[in-house]
Amino acid sequence: MKNINSKRVFRRNDAEVNPDGSYVLYWMQIHRRLEYNFALEYAVAWANKLGKPLLIYEGLICDYPWACDRIHRFMMQGMAAHHQGLKERKVNYYPYLEDKPGAGRGLIQSLAGNACCVISDEFPVFIIREHNEALSGKLKVPFVTVDANGMIPLGLTESDPYSAYIFRQTMQKNFLDSWNHPPLEKPLNGLKNRDVVELSAGHLEKWPHAGNALGNIDSFMKKLNLKEVGTLEINGTREAALARMDAFMKNDLSKYGEERNHPDSDRASRLSPWLHFGKISEYEIVKAALERQPSGWDPGSITFNKGQREGFFNGDASIDAFLDEVITWRGVGYHFCHHRADFDKYSSLPAWALKTLDEHRGDERKHIYSYEQLENAETGDEIWNAAQRQLRREGIIHNYLRMLWGKKVLEWTPDPETALEYLIELNNQYAIDGRDPNSYSGIFWIFGRFDRAWGPERPIYGKVRYMTSDSTRKKLNLTGYLKTFG
Ligand SMILES: Cc1cc2nc3c(=O)[nH]c(=O)nc-3n(C[C@H](O)[C@H](O)[C@H](O)COP(=O)(O)OP(=O)(O)OC[C@H]3O[C@@H](n4cnc5c(N)ncnc54)[C@H](O)[C@@H]3O)c2cc1C
Repeated sequence: MKNINSKRVFRRNDAEVNPDGSYVLYWMQIHRRLEYNFALEYAVAWANKLGKPLLIYEGLICDYPWACDRIHRFMMQGMAAHHQGLKERKVNYYPYLEDKPGAGRGLIQSLAGNACCVISDEFPVFIIREHNEALSGKLKVPFVTVDANGMIPLGLTESDPYSAYIFRQTMQKNFLDSWNHPPLEKPLNGLKNRDVVELSAGHLEKWPHAGNALGNIDSFMKKLNLKEVGTLEINGTREAALARMDAFMKNDLSKYGEERNHPDSDRASRLSPWLHFGKISEYEIVKAALERQPSGWDPGSITFNKGQREGFFNGDASIDAFLDEVITWRGVGYHFCHHRADFDKYSSLPAWALKTLDEHRGDERKHIYSYEQLENAETGDEIWNAAQRQLRREGIIHNYLRMLWGKKVLEWTPDPETALEYLIELNNQYAIDGRDPNSYSGIFWIFGRFDRAWGPERPIYGKVRYMTSDSTRKKLNLTGYLKTFG
Protein backbone atom coordinates (compact mmCIF):
# COMPACT_ATOMS: atom_id res chain seq x y z
CA MET A 1 0.00 0.00 0.00
CA LYS A 2 3.07 2.20 0.24
CA ASN A 3 2.89 2.94 -3.48
CA ILE A 4 -0.55 4.51 -3.16
CA ASN A 5 -0.89 8.14 -2.13
CA SER A 6 -3.08 8.28 1.00
CA LYS A 7 -5.00 11.13 -0.66
CA ARG A 8 -6.47 8.53 -2.98
CA VAL A 9 -7.77 6.36 -0.18
CA PHE A 10 -11.16 7.01 1.43
CA ARG A 11 -11.95 4.98 4.52
CA ARG A 12 -15.74 4.87 4.59
CA ASN A 13 -16.44 3.33 8.02
CA ASP A 14 -14.72 2.35 11.26
CA ALA A 15 -15.38 -1.40 11.15
CA GLU A 16 -12.64 -3.89 12.06
CA VAL A 17 -11.18 -6.37 9.56
CA ASN A 18 -12.89 -9.74 9.79
CA PRO A 19 -9.94 -12.15 10.17
CA ASP A 20 -12.22 -15.14 9.55
CA GLY A 21 -13.42 -13.80 6.20
CA SER A 22 -12.82 -16.03 3.19
CA TYR A 23 -11.49 -13.34 0.85
CA VAL A 24 -10.81 -9.68 0.25
CA LEU A 25 -13.60 -8.32 -1.94
CA TYR A 26 -12.87 -5.84 -4.72
CA TRP A 27 -16.10 -4.38 -6.08
CA MET A 28 -15.20 -3.01 -9.52
CA GLN A 29 -17.78 -0.30 -10.17
CA ILE A 30 -16.23 2.16 -12.61
CA HIS A 31 -12.45 1.57 -12.74
CA ARG A 32 -13.28 -1.37 -14.96
CA ARG A 33 -9.77 -2.45 -15.82
CA LEU A 34 -7.17 -4.87 -14.50
CA GLU A 35 -4.17 -2.67 -15.31
CA TYR A 36 -2.98 0.64 -13.86
CA ASN A 37 -5.79 0.57 -11.33
CA PHE A 38 -4.97 1.85 -7.82
CA ALA A 39 -8.19 0.42 -6.37
CA LEU A 40 -7.39 -3.09 -7.57
CA GLU A 41 -3.78 -2.63 -6.46
CA TYR A 42 -4.98 -1.64 -2.99
CA ALA A 43 -7.26 -4.69 -2.80
CA VAL A 44 -4.38 -6.98 -3.83
CA ALA A 45 -2.20 -5.42 -1.14
CA TRP A 46 -4.88 -6.14 1.50
CA ALA A 47 -5.28 -9.72 0.27
CA ASN A 48 -1.53 -10.23 0.53
CA LYS A 49 -1.35 -8.63 3.96
CA LEU A 50 -4.08 -10.92 5.27
CA GLY A 51 -2.91 -13.97 3.30
CA LYS A 52 -6.35 -14.31 1.73
CA PRO A 53 -7.50 -14.77 -1.85
CA LEU A 54 -9.05 -11.90 -3.76
CA LEU A 55 -12.55 -11.92 -5.19
CA ILE A 56 -13.24 -9.40 -7.94
CA TYR A 57 -16.94 -8.65 -8.27
CA GLU A 58 -18.21 -6.75 -11.33
CA GLY A 59 -21.94 -6.18 -11.74
CA LEU A 60 -24.43 -4.49 -14.00
CA ILE A 61 -27.92 -3.59 -12.84
CA CYS A 62 -30.64 -2.81 -15.37
CA ASP A 63 -32.42 0.23 -13.92
CA TYR A 64 -29.61 2.74 -13.50
CA PRO A 65 -30.51 6.26 -14.69
CA TRP A 66 -30.51 6.47 -18.52
CA ALA A 67 -30.23 2.67 -18.80
CA CYS A 68 -30.30 1.67 -22.47
CA ASP A 69 -29.06 -0.80 -25.04
CA ARG A 70 -26.07 1.43 -25.94
CA ILE A 71 -24.60 1.62 -22.44
CA HIS A 72 -25.48 -1.95 -21.56
CA ARG A 73 -23.80 -3.51 -24.57
CA PHE A 74 -20.65 -1.43 -24.13
CA MET A 75 -20.34 -2.47 -20.49
CA MET A 76 -21.12 -6.12 -21.14
CA GLN A 77 -18.44 -6.28 -23.84
CA GLY A 78 -15.92 -5.17 -21.24
CA MET A 79 -17.20 -7.68 -18.70
CA ALA A 80 -17.07 -10.52 -21.23
CA ALA A 81 -13.40 -9.77 -21.87
CA HIS A 82 -12.70 -9.83 -18.11
CA HIS A 83 -14.53 -13.12 -17.72
CA GLN A 84 -12.50 -14.73 -20.46
CA GLY A 85 -9.15 -13.24 -19.44
CA LEU A 86 -9.46 -13.96 -15.73
CA LYS A 87 -10.58 -17.54 -16.26
CA GLU A 88 -7.30 -18.14 -18.05
CA ARG A 89 -5.32 -16.36 -15.31
CA LYS A 90 -7.04 -18.24 -12.47
CA VAL A 91 -8.19 -15.13 -10.63
CA ASN A 92 -11.52 -15.24 -8.77
CA TYR A 93 -13.88 -13.15 -10.87
CA TYR A 94 -17.59 -13.03 -10.28
CA PRO A 95 -19.67 -11.17 -12.88
CA TYR A 96 -23.37 -10.57 -12.24
CA LEU A 97 -26.04 -9.19 -14.60
CA GLU A 98 -29.36 -8.15 -13.22
CA ASP A 99 -32.23 -9.62 -15.27
CA LYS A 100 -34.95 -7.49 -13.73
CA PRO A 101 -34.93 -4.24 -11.73
CA GLY A 102 -34.09 -4.80 -8.09
CA ALA A 103 -32.92 -8.40 -8.53
CA GLY A 104 -29.38 -7.49 -7.48
CA ARG A 105 -30.46 -5.83 -4.24
CA GLY A 106 -28.59 -7.27 -1.26
CA LEU A 107 -25.87 -8.90 -3.35
CA ILE A 108 -23.01 -6.76 -2.07
CA GLN A 109 -24.04 -7.23 1.55
CA SER A 110 -24.18 -10.98 0.93
CA LEU A 111 -20.64 -10.99 -0.52
CA ALA A 112 -19.41 -8.67 2.23
CA GLY A 113 -20.74 -11.11 4.82
CA ASN A 114 -17.89 -13.50 3.98
CA ALA A 115 -15.26 -10.86 3.26
CA CYS A 116 -12.40 -9.62 5.44
CA CYS A 117 -12.85 -6.14 4.00
CA VAL A 118 -14.42 -4.49 0.94
CA ILE A 119 -12.53 -2.25 -1.47
CA SER A 120 -14.23 -0.32 -4.24
CA ASP A 121 -13.83 2.64 -6.60
CA GLU A 122 -14.02 6.30 -5.61
CA PHE A 123 -16.02 8.23 -8.20
CA PRO A 124 -17.68 11.56 -7.60
CA VAL A 125 -20.93 11.29 -9.59
CA PHE A 126 -23.72 8.99 -10.74
CA ILE A 127 -24.89 5.90 -8.90
CA ILE A 128 -21.35 5.10 -7.82
CA ARG A 129 -21.31 8.12 -5.51
CA GLU A 130 -24.73 7.09 -4.15
CA HIS A 131 -23.76 3.43 -3.73
CA ASN A 132 -20.61 4.32 -1.83
CA GLU A 133 -22.44 6.70 0.48
CA ALA A 134 -25.30 4.28 1.10
CA LEU A 135 -23.09 1.27 1.76
CA SER A 136 -20.77 3.03 4.20
CA GLY A 137 -23.11 2.64 7.16
CA LYS A 138 -24.27 -0.86 6.29
CA LEU A 139 -21.10 -2.96 6.21
CA LYS A 140 -19.66 -4.70 9.26
CA VAL A 141 -16.19 -4.90 7.71
CA PRO A 142 -13.93 -2.04 6.54
CA PHE A 143 -15.22 -0.35 3.40
CA VAL A 144 -12.58 1.61 1.52
CA THR A 145 -12.97 3.41 -1.80
CA VAL A 146 -9.84 4.18 -3.81
CA ASP A 147 -9.47 6.88 -6.43
CA ALA A 148 -7.88 5.69 -9.69
CA ASN A 149 -9.51 8.41 -11.79
CA GLY A 150 -6.74 10.78 -12.70
CA MET A 151 -3.16 11.91 -12.20
CA ILE A 152 -3.98 14.24 -9.31
CA PRO A 153 -5.49 12.42 -6.29
CA LEU A 154 -8.98 13.64 -5.39
CA GLY A 155 -8.03 14.12 -1.74
CA LEU A 156 -5.31 16.62 -2.64
CA THR A 157 -7.67 19.54 -3.18
CA GLU A 158 -9.36 20.99 -0.11
CA SER A 159 -12.29 22.59 -1.91
CA ASP A 160 -13.88 22.78 -5.36
CA PRO A 161 -11.57 24.51 -7.86
CA TYR A 162 -13.18 27.65 -9.26
CA SER A 163 -11.45 27.44 -12.63
CA ALA A 164 -9.10 25.36 -14.73
CA TYR A 165 -6.45 27.98 -14.05
CA ILE A 166 -6.69 27.40 -10.30
CA PHE A 167 -6.72 23.62 -10.69
CA ARG A 168 -3.76 23.81 -13.06
CA GLN A 169 -1.71 25.33 -10.24
CA THR A 170 -2.48 22.32 -8.03
CA MET A 171 -1.71 20.04 -10.96
CA GLN A 172 1.62 21.73 -11.68
CA LYS A 173 2.69 21.50 -8.03
CA ASN A 174 1.79 17.82 -7.74
CA PHE A 175 2.37 16.36 -11.16
CA LEU A 176 5.89 15.10 -10.52
CA ASP A 177 4.92 13.32 -7.33
CA SER A 178 2.10 11.52 -9.16
CA TRP A 179 4.36 10.77 -12.07
CA ASN A 180 6.95 9.25 -9.73
CA HIS A 181 4.33 7.08 -8.01
CA PRO A 182 2.43 5.51 -10.88
CA PRO A 183 -0.09 2.70 -10.52
CA LEU A 184 1.33 -0.79 -11.11
CA GLU A 185 0.82 -1.94 -14.67
CA LYS A 186 -0.30 -5.42 -13.62
CA PRO A 187 -1.33 -5.43 -9.96
CA LEU A 188 -2.73 -8.96 -10.17
CA ASN A 189 0.74 -10.36 -10.88
CA GLY A 190 1.61 -9.68 -7.24
CA LEU A 191 -1.37 -11.54 -5.80
CA LYS A 192 -0.03 -14.31 -3.55
CA ASN A 193 -2.96 -16.44 -2.44
CA ARG A 194 -4.52 -18.02 -5.54
CA ASP A 195 -7.04 -20.26 -3.77
CA VAL A 196 -10.36 -20.68 -5.56
CA VAL A 197 -13.26 -18.87 -3.87
CA GLU A 198 -16.49 -20.89 -3.94
CA LEU A 199 -19.64 -18.85 -3.44
CA SER A 200 -22.45 -20.61 -1.63
CA ALA A 201 -25.16 -22.39 -3.63
CA GLY A 202 -27.77 -20.16 -1.97
CA HIS A 203 -25.99 -17.02 -3.08
CA LEU A 204 -25.55 -18.24 -6.65
CA GLU A 205 -29.14 -19.38 -6.87
CA LYS A 206 -30.28 -15.87 -6.05
CA TRP A 207 -27.57 -14.03 -7.99
CA PRO A 208 -26.28 -16.38 -10.72
CA HIS A 209 -22.80 -16.12 -12.18
CA ALA A 210 -23.13 -14.26 -15.52
CA GLY A 211 -20.58 -16.31 -17.46
CA ASN A 212 -23.15 -17.79 -19.84
CA ALA A 213 -25.00 -14.55 -20.47
CA LEU A 214 -21.72 -12.78 -21.25
CA GLY A 215 -21.09 -15.42 -23.90
CA ASN A 216 -24.28 -14.38 -25.68
CA ILE A 217 -24.83 -10.69 -25.15
CA ASP A 218 -27.53 -10.29 -27.83
CA SER A 219 -29.76 -12.95 -26.42
CA PHE A 220 -29.39 -11.64 -22.83
CA MET A 221 -30.18 -8.08 -23.90
CA LYS A 222 -33.35 -9.19 -25.66
CA LYS A 223 -34.77 -10.31 -22.33
CA LEU A 224 -34.21 -6.97 -20.64
CA ASN A 225 -36.64 -4.64 -22.36
CA LEU A 226 -34.11 -1.80 -22.23
CA LYS A 227 -34.74 1.60 -23.79
CA GLU A 228 -33.34 1.47 -27.33
CA VAL A 229 -31.19 4.37 -28.45
CA GLY A 230 -29.02 2.28 -30.78
CA THR A 231 -25.84 0.33 -30.13
CA LEU A 232 -22.45 1.54 -31.37
CA GLU A 233 -19.73 0.34 -33.70
CA ILE A 234 -17.04 0.90 -31.07
CA ASN A 235 -16.84 -1.76 -28.40
CA GLY A 236 -16.32 -1.54 -24.67
CA THR A 237 -13.19 -3.65 -24.26
CA ARG A 238 -9.81 -2.50 -23.05
CA GLU A 239 -8.36 -3.95 -26.23
CA ALA A 240 -10.45 -1.49 -28.27
CA ALA A 241 -9.36 1.39 -26.00
CA LEU A 242 -5.68 0.53 -26.45
CA ALA A 243 -6.06 0.21 -30.21
CA ARG A 244 -7.72 3.62 -30.35
CA MET A 245 -5.01 5.14 -28.17
CA ASP A 246 -2.23 3.73 -30.35
CA ALA A 247 -3.83 4.97 -33.55
CA PHE A 248 -4.30 8.45 -32.06
CA MET A 249 -0.74 8.64 -30.76
CA LYS A 250 0.70 7.56 -34.12
CA ASN A 251 -1.53 9.47 -36.50
CA ASP A 252 -3.11 12.45 -34.80
CA LEU A 253 -1.30 13.64 -31.69
CA SER A 254 1.29 15.71 -33.54
CA LYS A 255 -1.49 17.63 -35.31
CA TYR A 256 -3.85 17.84 -32.32
CA GLY A 257 -2.95 21.45 -31.46
CA GLU A 258 -3.74 22.87 -34.88
CA GLU A 259 -6.49 20.62 -36.14
CA ARG A 260 -8.52 19.22 -33.30
CA ASN A 261 -11.15 21.93 -33.61
CA HIS A 262 -11.90 21.10 -37.23
CA PRO A 263 -14.53 18.37 -37.47
CA ASP A 264 -13.30 17.36 -40.93
CA SER A 265 -9.75 16.68 -39.69
CA ASP A 266 -11.01 14.56 -36.81
CA ARG A 267 -7.76 14.72 -34.81
CA ALA A 268 -9.25 14.28 -31.34
CA SER A 269 -8.49 11.05 -29.51
CA ARG A 270 -12.11 9.86 -29.04
CA LEU A 271 -10.89 8.15 -25.88
CA SER A 272 -13.60 9.58 -23.62
CA PRO A 273 -15.94 6.54 -23.79
CA TRP A 274 -13.25 4.21 -22.45
CA LEU A 275 -11.96 6.79 -20.00
CA HIS A 276 -15.46 7.09 -18.61
CA PHE A 277 -15.88 3.37 -17.95
CA GLY A 278 -12.34 3.14 -16.62
CA LYS A 279 -11.18 0.79 -19.38
CA ILE A 280 -8.04 2.87 -19.79
CA SER A 281 -6.26 5.04 -17.22
CA GLU A 282 -5.39 8.69 -17.50
CA TYR A 283 -1.86 7.78 -16.40
CA GLU A 284 -1.15 5.51 -19.36
CA ILE A 285 -2.54 8.08 -21.82
CA VAL A 286 -0.29 10.76 -20.30
CA LYS A 287 2.68 8.36 -20.41
CA ALA A 288 2.06 7.46 -24.05
CA ALA A 289 1.78 11.14 -25.01
CA LEU A 290 4.92 12.12 -23.10
CA GLU A 291 6.86 9.32 -24.76
CA ARG A 292 6.04 10.95 -28.07
CA GLN A 293 7.79 14.23 -27.19
CA PRO A 294 10.13 14.62 -30.19
CA SER A 295 13.22 15.33 -28.09
CA GLY A 296 12.33 12.79 -25.40
CA TRP A 297 10.62 13.33 -22.06
CA ASP A 298 12.67 14.64 -19.21
CA PRO A 299 10.79 15.19 -15.92
CA GLY A 300 13.43 17.81 -15.13
CA SER A 301 12.12 20.00 -17.95
CA ILE A 302 8.81 20.83 -16.29
CA THR A 303 8.50 24.28 -14.77
CA PHE A 304 5.88 25.41 -12.28
CA ASN A 305 4.23 28.12 -14.32
CA LYS A 306 1.65 29.57 -11.90
CA GLY A 307 -1.27 27.88 -13.63
CA GLN A 308 -0.39 29.08 -17.15
CA ARG A 309 -0.89 26.32 -19.69
CA GLU A 310 2.16 27.12 -21.78
CA GLY A 311 5.61 26.60 -20.32
CA PHE A 312 4.83 23.68 -17.99
CA PHE A 313 5.76 20.56 -19.93
CA ASN A 314 7.97 22.60 -22.27
CA GLY A 315 7.60 20.14 -25.11
CA ASP A 316 5.85 19.93 -28.45
CA ALA A 317 2.91 22.38 -28.55
CA SER A 318 0.42 19.76 -29.76
CA ILE A 319 1.38 17.26 -27.08
CA ASP A 320 1.27 19.95 -24.39
CA ALA A 321 -2.21 21.01 -25.56
CA PHE A 322 -3.46 17.42 -25.42
CA LEU A 323 -1.98 16.89 -21.94
CA ASP A 324 -3.75 20.01 -20.72
CA GLU A 325 -7.11 18.59 -21.79
CA VAL A 326 -6.48 15.17 -20.32
CA ILE A 327 -4.95 16.26 -17.03
CA THR A 328 -6.26 19.75 -16.27
CA TRP A 329 -9.64 19.90 -17.98
CA ARG A 330 -10.53 16.36 -17.04
CA GLY A 331 -9.21 16.85 -13.51
CA VAL A 332 -10.95 20.13 -12.72
CA GLY A 333 -14.38 18.53 -13.19
CA TYR A 334 -13.54 15.45 -11.11
CA HIS A 335 -12.26 17.58 -8.26
CA PHE A 336 -15.22 19.95 -8.49
CA CYS A 337 -17.75 17.11 -8.25
CA HIS A 338 -15.75 15.44 -5.47
CA HIS A 339 -16.24 18.51 -3.27
CA ARG A 340 -19.71 19.50 -4.42
CA ALA A 341 -22.64 17.16 -3.91
CA ASP A 342 -24.73 19.77 -5.78
CA PHE A 343 -22.57 19.43 -8.92
CA ASP A 344 -25.69 18.83 -11.08
CA LYS A 345 -27.85 21.63 -9.65
CA TYR A 346 -28.43 24.94 -11.41
CA SER A 347 -27.72 26.76 -8.15
CA SER A 348 -24.12 25.45 -8.17
CA LEU A 349 -23.23 27.97 -10.91
CA PRO A 350 -20.95 30.85 -9.91
CA ALA A 351 -22.77 33.92 -8.53
CA TRP A 352 -21.89 36.13 -11.51
CA ALA A 353 -23.42 33.59 -13.92
CA LEU A 354 -26.60 33.14 -11.88
CA LYS A 355 -27.01 36.91 -11.72
CA THR A 356 -26.51 37.63 -15.41
CA LEU A 357 -28.67 34.71 -16.58
CA ASP A 358 -31.38 35.86 -14.22
CA GLU A 359 -31.21 39.41 -15.53
CA HIS A 360 -31.81 38.07 -19.05
CA ARG A 361 -34.43 35.52 -18.12
CA GLY A 362 -37.23 37.60 -19.68
CA ASP A 363 -35.42 38.24 -23.01
CA GLU A 364 -37.29 37.28 -26.13
CA ARG A 365 -36.33 33.87 -27.59
CA LYS A 366 -36.65 33.85 -31.41
CA HIS A 367 -37.07 30.07 -31.49
CA ILE A 368 -38.19 27.74 -28.77
CA TYR A 369 -37.80 24.02 -29.40
CA SER A 370 -39.33 21.22 -27.39
CA TYR A 371 -37.22 18.41 -25.94
CA GLU A 372 -38.51 16.07 -28.67
CA GLN A 373 -37.62 18.52 -31.45
CA LEU A 374 -34.11 18.77 -30.09
CA GLU A 375 -33.84 15.04 -29.57
CA ASN A 376 -34.90 14.42 -33.17
CA ALA A 377 -32.55 17.08 -34.61
CA GLU A 378 -35.49 19.13 -35.87
CA THR A 379 -34.21 22.66 -35.41
CA GLY A 380 -33.70 25.26 -38.13
CA ASP A 381 -29.92 25.08 -37.65
CA GLU A 382 -28.05 22.72 -39.98
CA ILE A 383 -24.87 22.53 -37.89
CA TRP A 384 -26.74 21.90 -34.66
CA ASN A 385 -28.84 19.17 -36.26
CA ALA A 386 -25.68 17.51 -37.59
CA ALA A 387 -24.10 17.53 -34.12
CA GLN A 388 -27.24 16.04 -32.59
CA ARG A 389 -27.30 13.34 -35.29
CA GLN A 390 -23.67 12.50 -34.53
CA LEU A 391 -24.60 12.17 -30.88
CA ARG A 392 -27.45 9.80 -31.70
CA ARG A 393 -25.47 7.76 -34.18
CA GLU A 394 -21.99 7.67 -32.64
CA GLY A 395 -22.64 8.43 -28.98
CA ILE A 396 -20.28 11.42 -29.00
CA ILE A 397 -20.08 14.93 -30.49
CA HIS A 398 -16.96 16.49 -31.87
CA ASN A 399 -15.49 18.62 -29.05
CA TYR A 400 -15.82 22.09 -30.58
CA LEU A 401 -19.32 21.39 -31.85
CA ARG A 402 -20.28 20.04 -28.45
CA MET A 403 -19.77 23.54 -27.11
CA LEU A 404 -21.93 25.11 -29.83
CA TRP A 405 -24.50 22.35 -29.35
CA GLY A 406 -24.87 23.30 -25.69
CA LYS A 407 -24.85 27.07 -26.20
CA LYS A 408 -27.71 26.96 -28.71
CA VAL A 409 -29.93 25.02 -26.31
CA LEU A 410 -29.58 27.89 -23.83
CA GLU A 411 -30.88 30.20 -26.56
CA TRP A 412 -33.76 27.95 -27.67
CA THR A 413 -35.43 27.09 -24.37
CA PRO A 414 -37.80 29.18 -22.20
CA ASP A 415 -35.30 29.61 -19.34
CA PRO A 416 -31.79 28.46 -18.35
CA GLU A 417 -33.10 25.83 -15.93
CA THR A 418 -34.98 24.12 -18.77
CA ALA A 419 -31.90 24.35 -20.98
CA LEU A 420 -29.86 22.66 -18.26
CA GLU A 421 -32.42 19.92 -17.79
CA TYR A 422 -32.58 19.19 -21.54
CA LEU A 423 -28.81 19.17 -21.94
CA ILE A 424 -28.27 16.77 -19.06
CA GLU A 425 -30.96 14.51 -20.43
CA LEU A 426 -29.74 14.52 -24.05
CA ASN A 427 -26.09 14.15 -23.09
CA ASN A 428 -26.51 11.43 -20.51
CA GLN A 429 -28.98 9.43 -22.55
CA TYR A 430 -27.12 9.38 -25.84
CA ALA A 431 -23.45 10.03 -25.05
CA ILE A 432 -21.50 6.89 -24.32
CA ASP A 433 -19.10 9.09 -22.30
CA GLY A 434 -22.03 10.70 -20.43
CA ARG A 435 -22.89 10.46 -16.71
CA ASP A 436 -19.32 11.49 -15.98
CA PRO A 437 -17.83 14.43 -14.06
CA ASN A 438 -16.78 15.72 -17.51
CA SER A 439 -20.41 15.70 -18.59
CA TYR A 440 -21.20 18.17 -15.82
CA SER A 441 -18.06 20.24 -16.56
CA GLY A 442 -19.07 20.54 -20.20
CA ILE A 443 -22.75 21.18 -19.64
CA PHE A 444 -22.29 23.66 -16.79
CA TRP A 445 -19.52 25.42 -18.74
CA ILE A 446 -22.29 26.38 -21.17
CA PHE A 447 -23.79 28.42 -18.30
CA GLY A 448 -20.51 29.86 -16.96
CA ARG A 449 -18.88 27.25 -14.68
CA PHE A 450 -15.07 27.36 -14.99
CA ASP A 451 -15.44 30.43 -17.23
CA ARG A 452 -15.49 34.19 -16.67
CA ALA A 453 -17.84 37.00 -17.63
CA TRP A 454 -17.53 38.24 -21.21
CA GLY A 455 -18.58 41.45 -22.92
CA PRO A 456 -20.50 42.83 -24.64
CA GLU A 457 -23.58 41.70 -22.81
CA ARG A 458 -25.94 39.77 -25.14
CA PRO A 459 -29.63 38.94 -25.06
CA ILE A 460 -30.40 35.69 -23.19
CA TYR A 461 -26.71 34.93 -22.50
CA GLY A 462 -25.98 38.15 -20.63
CA LYS A 463 -22.28 38.02 -19.75
CA VAL A 464 -22.03 34.27 -20.30
CA ARG A 465 -19.82 33.35 -23.27
CA TYR A 466 -21.76 33.32 -26.51
CA MET A 467 -21.25 31.22 -29.68
CA THR A 468 -23.00 31.30 -33.03
CA SER A 469 -23.41 28.80 -35.83
CA ASP A 470 -22.45 31.45 -38.41
CA SER A 471 -19.06 32.12 -36.86
CA THR A 472 -18.55 28.38 -36.36
CA ARG A 473 -19.22 27.81 -40.05
CA LYS A 474 -16.68 30.49 -40.99
CA LYS A 475 -14.04 29.22 -38.57
CA LEU A 476 -14.18 25.46 -39.08
CA ASN A 477 -13.76 22.96 -41.88
CA LEU A 478 -17.17 21.33 -41.80
CA THR A 479 -18.03 20.27 -45.34
CA GLY A 480 -17.37 16.56 -44.86
CA TYR A 481 -18.98 16.60 -41.41
CA LEU A 482 -22.18 18.14 -42.75
CA LYS A 483 -22.26 15.62 -45.58
CA THR A 484 -21.97 12.76 -43.10
CA PHE A 485 -24.44 14.02 -40.52
CA GLY A 486 -26.49 16.52 -42.54
C1 LIG B 1 -21.98 20.46 -23.57
C2 LIG B 1 -20.80 19.56 -23.34
C3 LIG B 1 -20.99 18.28 -22.88
C4 LIG B 1 -19.91 17.43 -22.62
N1 LIG B 1 -20.15 16.16 -22.16
C5 LIG B 1 -19.11 15.33 -21.92
C6 LIG B 1 -19.34 14.01 -21.46
O1 LIG B 1 -20.48 13.59 -21.25
N2 LIG B 1 -18.26 13.21 -21.22
C7 LIG B 1 -16.98 13.64 -21.46
O2 LIG B 1 -16.05 12.87 -21.26
N3 LIG B 1 -16.74 14.89 -21.89
C8 LIG B 1 -17.76 15.75 -22.14
N4 LIG B 1 -17.50 17.02 -22.60
C9 LIG B 1 -16.10 17.49 -22.70
C10 LIG B 1 -15.41 17.23 -24.07
O3 LIG B 1 -16.23 17.69 -25.10
C11 LIG B 1 -15.10 15.75 -24.26
O4 LIG B 1 -14.35 15.27 -23.16
C12 LIG B 1 -14.25 15.49 -25.51
O5 LIG B 1 -14.85 16.04 -26.63
C13 LIG B 1 -14.11 13.98 -25.68
O6 LIG B 1 -13.54 13.67 -26.91
P1 LIG B 1 -12.07 13.13 -27.04
O7 LIG B 1 -11.86 11.97 -26.13
O8 LIG B 1 -11.80 12.95 -28.48
O9 LIG B 1 -11.24 14.37 -26.48
P2 LIG B 1 -9.72 14.80 -26.68
O10 LIG B 1 -9.71 16.18 -27.25
O11 LIG B 1 -8.96 13.76 -27.42
O12 LIG B 1 -9.19 14.91 -25.20
C14 LIG B 1 -8.72 13.77 -24.47
C15 LIG B 1 -9.45 13.68 -23.16
O13 LIG B 1 -9.28 14.87 -22.40
C16 LIG B 1 -10.48 15.17 -21.69
N5 LIG B 1 -11.07 16.40 -22.20
C17 LIG B 1 -10.94 16.95 -23.43
N6 LIG B 1 -11.64 18.11 -23.51
C18 LIG B 1 -12.23 18.27 -22.32
C19 LIG B 1 -13.08 19.27 -21.78
N7 LIG B 1 -13.43 20.34 -22.47
N8 LIG B 1 -13.52 19.11 -20.52
C20 LIG B 1 -13.17 18.06 -19.78
N9 LIG B 1 -12.35 17.07 -20.23
C21 LIG B 1 -11.89 17.19 -21.49
C22 LIG B 1 -11.44 14.02 -21.96
O14 LIG B 1 -11.28 13.06 -20.95
C23 LIG B 1 -10.96 13.51 -23.29
O15 LIG B 1 -11.32 12.18 -23.54
C24 LIG B 1 -18.58 17.89 -22.85
C25 LIG B 1 -18.39 19.20 -23.34
C26 LIG B 1 -19.48 20.01 -23.58
C27 LIG B 1 -19.22 21.41 -24.08
